[in-house]
Amino acid sequence: MSDIEVAARPTNFIRQIIDNDLAEGKYQTIQTRFPPEPNGYLHIGHAKAICLNFGIAQDYRGKCNLRFDDTNPVKEDVEYVESIKNDVQWLGFQWDGEVRYSSDYFEQLFLYAIELIQKGLAYVDELSADEIREYRGTLTQVGKNSPYRDRSIDENLSLFNKMKNGELAEGTACLRAKIDMASPFIVMRDPVLYRIKFANHHQTADTWCIYPMYDFTHCISDAIENITHSLCTLEFQDNRRLYDWVLDNITISSRPHQYEFSRLNLEYTITSKRKLNLLVTENIVDGWDDPRMPTVSGMRRRGYSAASIREFCQRIGITKQENTVEMSALEFCVREDLNENAPRAMAVIDPVKIIIENFSDSLDEILMMPNHPNRPELGSRNVPFTRELYIDRADFREEANKNYKRLVLGKEVRLRNAYVIRADRVEKDNAGNINTIYCSYDPSTLNKNPEDGRKIKGVIHWVSAKFALPAEIRLYDRLFSMPNPSAAENFLATINPESLAIKRGFVEPSLRDSKAEFAYQFEREGYFCLDSKYAKEGNLVFNRTVGLRDNWSE
Ligand code: ATP
Ligand code: MG
Repeated sequence: MSDIEVAARPTNFIRQIIDNDLAEGKYQTIQTRFPPEPNGYLHIGHAKAICLNFGIAQDYRGKCNLRFDDTNPVKEDVEYVESIKNDVQWLGFQWDGEVRYSSDYFEQLFLYAIELIQKGLAYVDELSADEIREYRGTLTQVGKNSPYRDRSIDENLSLFNKMKNGELAEGTACLRAKIDMASPFIVMRDPVLYRIKFANHHQTADTWCIYPMYDFTHCISDAIENITHSLCTLEFQDNRRLYDWVLDNITISSRPHQYEFSRLNLEYTITSKRKLNLLVTENIVDGWDDPRMPTVSGMRRRGYSAASIREFCQRIGITKQENTVEMSALEFCVREDLNENAPRAMAVIDPVKIIIENFSDSLDEILMMPNHPNRPELGSRNVPFTRELYIDRADFREEANKNYKRLVLGKEVRLRNAYVIRADRVEKDNAGNINTIYCSYDPSTLNKNPEDGRKIKGVIHWVSAKFALPAEIRLYDRLFSMPNPSAAENFLATINPESLAIKRGFVEPSLRDSKAEFAYQFEREGYFCLDSKYAKEGNLVFNRTVGLRDNWSE
């Protein structure tokens, strides 16, 4: 990457810190990491953290690790490990070397815990979890010392080994740092470093029955991996004191530093793995990759490109201010990318038949259409034009005023990339619904205006009734009906019951071989892609990726 490209990136406070560190010679190379806990699928918030960490490594010719922060075996699973690896790569990034796991360092972490005990800086506590909470105090009240705080070093070593050897029951003992029960920072009030858990771990199986806590594990894992800048979200701001305390009190050569940035919050959605998990387990959505989910796999299945997600992350920037980004900002990036890159096609979502009475029944015409109006290099395709066509029900009215620029009884309209037609009469069923519109076409108007100077204002899309393929079309709306569902007492009660509408329509035959996740612009309807889960040979199912216009600010 040239320096010009680096310079073109918008800067932020983290890049300024890195620039300074490099200028002062504090580091020669930059090493970052993305440290997900494998307890759920990645969401758009993680995409922000991924773009930040991997983006910095790329731009500074450094390295970025993928490290699973796997210290809580009960909630974790290899399914999540695999999905996370997949999502990071799909977003366009590659970690340095092998995937890493905090659990790779359990042995070293154990030895560092011993070091703290030997220095008189950690002790085995036998208070119950409730008592520990009670002794901890509150924001306005200092905590008090555990009666076990002043055990001898030998006693602590022996008890800690007993914990490790499975001789103590879950919940009866834990290892705590000996810091300061009166600290104004609650995280510094003798935080727990290790707890007993007789749980099978997805990486280490039954090797361990004690597991290190996040705060103890994270900083040491960073140091072991020679991370230079450990970037995390603002809720860890206070934890930075503990991060530094641990590293300052153990013998380790490298010294990473933690910097915090604000989380991404998006309107009308949630970015909490716990809550997203609930949507999955309660069957409110169709799995983690439901196209309505803000997960990377959901957005992918919906037809968002990785490039548009990266662009979005770039545009929102990195700051320390908490804020909520509008959904339209994300969709803007998706739409901008698809407008440029998605081939055009025609589909009719709510079909009504038209019959062109002066068009031969025995003669099908093949019309050649460009795949993209401004990009000839994307080629063209053949679309059959026949006597019977489908148009969208909303594109016809028996009567209408001048503002309605579509087909009206007795008037003319242009069929996209084809002829001008006039609606002559309609046929209705017993309930009064139109089932056929009889039309006539002007054969001299294929992609050109009528010679007598008649002005044709509207253009509508169509498909051949004879050759079009039936397709299920899934229209998605916001999953939540409130801008901030996380603030609701019960976020499940804010689910939008109309977030999915399933229609049966028709698509032009060229879409027979379309590939999952690859979006097209269905002319006048929006962007759509084949669904990777439900589409099967002979059964087309399309997801609406995004509409043509922003409809969030109604
Ligand atoms: P969740 O609240 O969804 O469980 P988490 O922070 O517990 O998120 P992790 O797997 O620990 O999930 O996250 C991995 C990394 O992604 C962390 O560095 C975290 O700070 C970052 N991250 C998580 N959510 C967001 C978000 N909404 N915006 C930006 N970064 C995020
Ligand atoms: Mg976390």
